[in-house]
Amino acid sequence: MSKSFFVDTTICTACRGCQVACKQWHDLPAEETTNRGTYENPADLSFITYKVVRMREQVIDGKLNWLFFPEQCRHCIEAPCLETAGDPGAIFRDDKTGAIIFTANTKRLNAAAIIEACPYNVPRKAADGTLAKCDMCLDRVENGLPPACVQTCPTGAMTFGDRDEIVAIAKKRLGEVKKKNPKAMLIDEDTVSVIYLVAYEPKLYCKNAMASNADFSITRQMALKRMIRPLTNITSRLL
Ligand code: SF4
Ligand code: SF4
Ligand code: SF4
Repeated sequence: MSKSFFVDTTICTACRGCQVACKQWHDLPAEETTNRGTYENPADLSFITYKVVRMREQVIDGKLNWLFFPEQCRHCIEAPCLETAGDPGAIFRDDKTGAIIFTANTKRLNAAAIIEACPYNVPRKAADGTLAKCDMCLDRVENGLPPACVQTCPTGAMTFGDRDEIVAIAKKRLGEVKKKNPKAMLIDEDTVSVIYLVAYEPKLYCKNAMASNADFSITRQMALKRMIRPLTNITSRLL
């Protein structure tokens, strides 16, 4: 059974504990930052930052709201980055969990094409061309532990587990939140393994919250790969 995350942004307090836990577990250094007049820090994802909590001040129905969105790779079920790469030594899908993993061999890929293929603008490049992003804490998950960000979240905004259970939890919670916020929705829940619940329009949270909000169009390379993909691959994914 593949794994999924449920991220309930309605109870995220933007404490950024998940950001710190991600850095600690992966032994990644802090970034040098400047005061940009926002608590959102660092300014973006990077080769050494796999998770960033977005913070947006939005006036909704005449009321000021502070919206939070802990952003990371969505581990897409049919991942455009993986299909564009076409190089399992560089980007592969872990069959057990569904995690999309970038290796050091991403250095030999066309980084610009991979970045362009991602509908959520997630992969980031090092100076030598190697790409990096969230790895679902696969080493923890394989050993029966939750991802570091999930384990550290003090409000329970993040849940991780078998996909069926996570989808059920997400749908149940959506029903509850909709009573107060009729525009609440799950973002791209059928196509990603990181399912976000938002109370308002996704674009209010951050530019790439939802795939359809991004300037995403299937690349020519991906289209060709899809056309020639053997039927057996498609059927095995449906089983
Ligand atoms: Fe939000 Fe939980 Fe991350 Fe804190 S740790 S920013 S509450 S998701
Ligand atoms: Fe970071 Fe692991 Fe959470 Fe991904 S799953 S954002 S790698 S802590
Ligand atoms: Fe790949 Fe982007 Fe999907 Fe992550 S969100 S699996 S980087 S296409």
